[in-house]
Amino acid sequence: MIVQADCRGYVSWHEGLPPTLFWMRCTVCNHVHTEDYWTEKGLEQVFAHTHTGQAVGGNPDQKRQTWKPVVQNVLSVLG
Ligand SMILES: [Zn+2]
Repeated sequence: MIVQADCRGYVSWHEGLPPTLFWMRCTVCNHVHTEDYWTEKGLEQVFAHTHTGQAVGGNPDQKRQTWKPVVQNVLSVLG
């Protein structure tokens, strides 16, 4: 485990969501992930109070255009 993160201070946190998440790092590929997976009911809670732009799915081409300037800025900073 890397860290146990307290989620209760996050603006979208509400009762029904876990108060903490355990973040792990894979020892093989260094991928960082939470210890548990969300159930369907849990995902409903996660996305219950999100803005439409934060929802999963949608039009990937539109999102690519939305995020293009951000990626360009990051690339110009990182080189
Ligand atoms: Zn891995």
